[in-house]
Amino acid sequence: MSIKVEYIWIDGTEPTARLRSKTKVLPAGGDAELPIWGFDGSSTGQAPGRASDCVLRPVFTAPDPIRGGPHLLALCEVLDTDLTPHRTNTRAACLEVAERFSDHEPLFGIEQEYTFFKDSRPLGFPAGGFPAPQGFYYCGVGADEVFGRDVVEAHLDACLTAGLQISGINAEVMPGQWEFQVGPLGPIEVSDQLWLARWLLYRVAEDFGISATLAPKPVKGDWNGAGAHTNFSTRQMRSDYSAIVDACEALGAKAAEHIAHYGAGIEERLTGSHETAAFTTFSYGVSDRGASVRIPWQVEAAKKGYIEDRRPNANMDPYQVTRLVTDTVCSALG
Ligand code: ADP
Ligand code: MN
Ligand code: MN
Ligand code: MN
Repeated sequence: MSIKVEYIWIDGTEPTARLRSKTKVLPAGGDAELPIWGFDGSSTGQAPGRASDCVLRPVFTAPDPIRGGPHLLALCEVLDTDLTPHRTNTRAACLEVAERFSDHEPLFGIEQEYTFFKDSRPLGFPAGGFPAPQGFYYCGVGADEVFGRDVVEAHLDACLTAGLQISGINAEVMPGQWEFQVGPLGPIEVSDQLWLARWLLYRVAEDFGISATLAPKPVKGDWNGAGAHTNFSTRQMRSDYSAIVDACEALGAKAAEHIAHYGAGIEERLTGSHETAAFTTFSYGVSDRGASVRIPWQVEAAKKGYIEDRRPNANMDPYQVTRLVTDTVCSALG
């Protein structure tokens, strides 16, 4: 039986990259290593038409939960034809930082929030109007509070079948808004798995006639935005509270640089309302969901553990966020 391999990559769309994929059919019993492949970069914002070839190199492979059997999903990095990283390849720089600081044993758990849309409005929003105000949708139950659970369950099963390390799911504050968490894993592993989990989200929802978006503020006004809270620890932070405080201080010293790479449209989401701190300020605190960085109460009690950077947008690139957090904190912890 032939093997269908879905080659998945991150494109060059500005300001937020999108996922693309296409299928390569390989004979069964071929090489263990998947071959490099190519695509038309002029159709993805990655090359001009007169020199349109870009290269795909598989970097993370998983069993395909959609096609089943021997079929595979292959997350790829994009290379130029000289096999150096393409300008849109943010994984290469992340890998360099992950290797430089591997002695610190950095771990990330990322909370990916997203919103389902159908008929050009969030799932659960009535035609031409608004649902009841926020208050009981978060972790709710019942047909008047929860919209899209069948898709969410199918996505969770797909991720688990693919071997992704999902640590949980929950319904969010706005109708049609949900979250899944990936990790804890190292910078590259969590990022590869998050990109694949995003692809599976779009792919699974497609069969339900529903789209999923990572838009950071899908509905203007008094409705929560969508973030990607990034939980982080190093070996030191997992044993010593002073390293927790030092990590928060280090993030504060580089706040502007981090904000600039935490996802397009971050100023619309980090307003200071809806469980966010304003993007113009930096703060950290125990149990504080209005701070930029939260120290969970269990961490303060145990005097060790991890911190939650609440600033990244849902549409952030995890290669950029984990690279920056690893570099900033590990450089400061020395
Ligand atoms: P919240 O209370 O903010 O909603 P969640 O339960 O959604 O938190 O997410 C917490 C995330 O933190 C999970 O992905 C979990 O795997 C991760 N996590 C737990 N311990 C650590 C750790 N020591 N280092 C990094 N991430 C961690
Ligand atoms: Mn959460
Ligand atoms: Mn959440
Ligand atoms: Mn959180």
